[in-house]
Amino acid sequence: MSKPLTKEDWIKIGQQMMDDRAKAIKIAKTRKFDTVATHGLYTMETAFSGNSGSIMEPIYLTTAEAYRDSAHMEAALAYEMPTWCYSRIANPSIGFLEDTIALLESYGTDIEASCCATASGMAAIRTATDAFLIKDDSLPKPNFVTSAKVYGGTFQQFSVRRYKEQGIEVRWVCNPYNLDEWKSKIDEGTRFVYGEFPSNPAVAIFDIEEVTKLAHKFGIPMIVDATCASPALTRPLQFGADIVIQSGTKVISTNGTSICGMLTSRKNIISKVGCDDMKADFAVWAKLWPFRDNGPSISPINSILTLNDLRSLRMRIAQMSDTGLKVATFLENHPKVDRVYYPGLKSYPAHEIARKYMKLADTNENKYSYMMAIEIKEKAPMDSVNARKFYDALQMIWRATDLGRCKTVATLNAISTHQQQGEEGRKLAEIKPSTCRIAVGIEDPEDIIKDLEQALEKI
Ligand SMILES: *Cc1c(COP(=O)(O)O)cnc(C)c1O
Repeated sequence: MSKPLTKEDWIKIGQQMMDDRAKAIKIAKTRKFDTVATHGLYTMETAFSGNSGSIMEPIYLTTAEAYRDSAHMEAALAYEMPTWCYSRIANPSIGFLEDTIALLESYGTDIEASCCATASGMAAIRTATDAFLIKDDSLPKPNFVTSAKVYGGTFQQFSVRRYKEQGIEVRWVCNPYNLDEWKSKIDEGTRFVYGEFPSNPAVAIFDIEEVTKLAHKFGIPMIVDATCASPALTRPLQFGADIVIQSGTKVISTNGTSICGMLTSRKNIISKVGCDDMKADFAVWAKLWPFRDNGPSISPINSILTLNDLRSLRMRIAQMSDTGLKVATFLENHPKVDRVYYPGLKSYPAHEIARKYMKLADTNENKYSYMMAIEIKEKAPMDSVNARKFYDALQMIWRATDLGRCKTVATLNAISTHQQQGEEGRKLAEIKPSTCRIAVGIEDPEDIIKDLEQALEKI
């Protein structure tokens, strides 16, 4: 029998594992977007070393990792060697997804990113923002600055959970195109700046680079929810942002099987609060500590379902964006439609910013995504009579609160995603009773337009 391994031997084995991983990352960084999305860090070597040669990433439906002996357990649980240990903290299947997302969010740059996958997009937002709202008596009372044009769930998390329940001041930026408004809201008590690109459902954007510069001037991080753009169009880390949020539920996993979130960070983020480890590698720190204690973990099944869809993200975004532009152009020219908000239209108030930030990966081509908000013409500004007639007449397009799906979905936001926000909240988010969000899918654009046309005729 060979001599038993000591803790030091295990740490050395761990070092080798980390060196191999660094090499794999280096190779992946030389590949194109579609290749990275397809392979991530799962190589033939990974397949043959403990994954039974499986060509696809296996689903590890298991709670915990076993250790060879006490020395192995001791080294692993001191986090002195790579380990996944317990599926609330980590799991190999979840890891395959995290590796791929980290590579895609930092694609085309030499940024080293890390990702922490969560049970939902909301859990990713909560995990990312919790860390900066910790008690620190050496600082003024905490506040944070956020675009008011955010997803309905985010609005509720900020206004109800953060403000009403926890008393943390939320400073809303009503016009995210206006840099002066961002500037006027940030002060010494601000812990982070938050924006959505583009926002759901108002389809508002902001100048990521300029707002990030403002945040950094105050020594605080910039967090961007880029769910509706996805890394195939917009990668905020490239423009200086510190943390990116994705609801993997949306266009990343377009086939609509599961709920999933991710937060991805660059190394050495800027923050006024938190320990050195937190600033050095935020996503990994979050995963090993607060995430472990709070438990918003994702299922390994959902991780692999999301990963399987993620592989074809760029080609879907390309087609869905082309369809989006066709549908938006049709609607803008329709006499029964008052306004169309779509970043690809010349009439869009921040078309120039969209041109800067929304480009299909590996091309120099602007693509403007699959999502638009329209306002149906009404007799009075607060009416929704015509919008409801149109909405109820849709035959192929689904009535649901969903987006980024392979199937086209339409949502009347005032009575769904933004019902609970009240009149005041809807005003902040600029949601009118006649606002309808349309998220086009992968169907033929002609059939989508046909359905919209017949529904508009019913008004
Ligand atoms: C849907 C959505 C979320 C929340 O994600 P879930 O996975 O549903 O929790 C967050 N941000 C944006 C922009 C979204 O569209």
